[in-house]
Amino acid sequence: MSGKLYLVATPIGNLEDITLRALRILKEVDMIAAEDTRHTLKLLNYFEISKPLISYYKQNESTRSVELVEKLQAGKNIAIVSDAGTPGISDPGEQIVKSVIENGIEIVPIPGACAFVNALISSGISTKEFCFLGFLSAMKKERKEKLQELKYETKTLIFYEAPHKLNNTLKDMLEILGDREIVLARELTKIHEEFIRGKISEILENKEEIRGEFVLILEGSCESKREMELKKFNCMTLEEQYEFYKNHGLSKKEIIKQITKDRGVNKNEIYQYFLDK
Ligand code: SAM
Repeated sequence: MSGKLYLVATPIGNLEDITLRALRILKEVDMIAAEDTRHTLKLLNYFEISKPLISYYKQNESTRSVELVEKLQAGKNIAIVSDAGTPGISDPGEQIVKSVIENGIEIVPIPGACAFVNALISSGISTKEFCFLGFLSAMKKERKEKLQELKYETKTLIFYEAPHKLNNTLKDMLEILGDREIVLARELTKIHEEFIRGKISEILENKEEIRGEFVLILEGSCESKREMELKKFNCMTLEEQYEFYKNHGLSKKEIIKQITKDRGVNKNEIYQYFLDK
């Protein structure tokens, strides 16, 4: 019979944030696959757990997944841990989970710390609906394209970011998304835990270097793309709106249908208008 794959969350700073269940599973499994074995060894030593460790990081994820599946098929129970927080969240994990599912092996999540969840719930920004984006690209062009894509997203936006990239990321956010409320949740669960709140421009004006690990929580757009378009259409003549949709490749029939919908008017009125022209 196959073993089980346990996805075990570990602390994001404060060692007290490991669950009793996580400790029990780490003691019981046959081996632990860790993003950085030296880092995980410190955690295991602290909790007096002695277990065979195998490395499992981004660059060896594919090959390691095959080996781990073989071990699971041979009946071994394996725990996956990352350096901090929940495996698979901007950390290795996704690949092995896919392989394990394909091979009909059982997966057991062991919940615990996750930086973005704790940043979000403490942010004061809407928690109703949100998009987690992980790390933005280090390449300026790609970063800007992603932000452009998110411009009209009304859900709360969540990013991970490295301190040395923060300034450029904030500048791009200000340029593309506008001056929104933002919260920098810094050094969560650690001694210097801090929430820096304000408009993007205010954070940028503060010249003090922001150090440590942090999560960015950004309020969503106050208007969706559709609402922005409808506002724009209100200031357009029917001909201008017709041209707008024509330039977007819509047929005559589709344009009239769309204008009718946008303006909440009778279809025949719009047909008649263009017939009379
Ligand atoms: N798997 C982790 C999780 O569950 O949150 C995330 C790992 S990701 C490689 C590391 C990023 O998470 C950091 O660059 C930072 O953005 C965020 N992070 C991790 N620990 C944090 C902490 N204690 N305070 C603030 N942000 C943290």
